[in-house]
Amino acid sequence: MESIKQKAAGIVVGICCLLCGCSKAEPAAPQQPAEPPPKQTDTGEHSTPTQPQKEKDYIQWVEFNCDEALLKKASEADINTQGRISWITLLAYSVAKNWGNVDKPCLEYVDECRARLEAGESEAVFSKELKLFDYYKEAYTAVLGGFLGIRADESYGICAYSPIAEGFYFSHYKDFGASRTYGFSRPHKGNDLMGSVGTPIIAVEGGYVEALGWNTYGGWRVGIRSADKKRYYYYAHLRKGHPFPADLKEGDTVRAGQVIGYLGQTGYSTTPDTNNITTPHLHFGMQLIFDESQKDAVSEIWIDVYSIIEWLNQNRSEVKYDKNAKEYYRVSVP
Ligand SMILES: [Zn+2]
Repeated sequence: MESIKQKAAGIVVGICCLLCGCSKAEPAAPQQPAEPPPKQTDTGEHSTPTQPQKEKDYIQWVEFNCDEALLKKASEADINTQGRISWITLLAYSVAKNWGNVDKPCLEYVDECRARLEAGESEAVFSKELKLFDYYKEAYTAVLGGFLGIRADESYGICAYSPIAEGFYFSHYKDFGASRTYGFSRPHKGNDLMGSVGTPIIAVEGGYVEALGWNTYGGWRVGIRSADKKRYYYYAHLRKGHPFPADLKEGDTVRAGQVIGYLGQTGYSTTPDTNNITTPHLHFGMQLIFDESQKDAVSEIWIDVYSIIEWLNQNRSEVKYDKNAKEYYRVSVP
């Protein structure tokens, strides 16, 4: 029996296929090279297929396509009501009502949902009325669950940060899914933020350091898992010679806003500490994990973070340089 979540995921993929005309019923798996590349564990770039999984009752695919305008409108409603109206509910309602599409009606549906909640209607009603509501609620909770809450100064608001420190320039464009060819052909599973070598890289969300060191594709990289374990943040191509703060190590707990590395151009080499990327940039990736079996499998879920980076621009972490230690540190927050 197909579970509700699988059905919902199938509907979403089906909608996408109708719109883009593609013939795939499943997200594209990376192609197999003649010789499989070394097993990578957290790049979003490995291609080692695993045996087909038995039927599981958890979400197996998410296409995150909320744009910045929608994130902004929903989050402002949440913050203005101190969390009484959940932005995740507003987003799930509007995208479910719009059958998985994000365009103008979604902004109006945010207002409609808010009015219904203010009038005392419950989410159970939305769940009955909108076939995809439960799916989007769970999917968006996994994506955005750590972004709003109580801040260090005890106010309620955005508690996640841009991955680029305050005062440091960067540029990016919508490059999710673009082709990458080093090692084997595969789609790009993150967003590249172009900036200067040495730019302090910030933990978007707190969590623990699950991976830190050299990776054939990502070069010097750090991987941070959120406390609820649903999000894995991947920061790659860090600086040659001095990629991370000297005292950062695997297993450490980090806080949102903390400096966790420096922008560079390492990667695409089996030799550690090699610069093999022309344009210095941070590769920022975000993986969703609904079940641990998805962490390092061909079925792993990486989402398009472009709009999240845009939205996070309003919350950049301020840093200061310590000449003796040759490190940037977060300016302490009240
Ligand atoms: Zn990249």
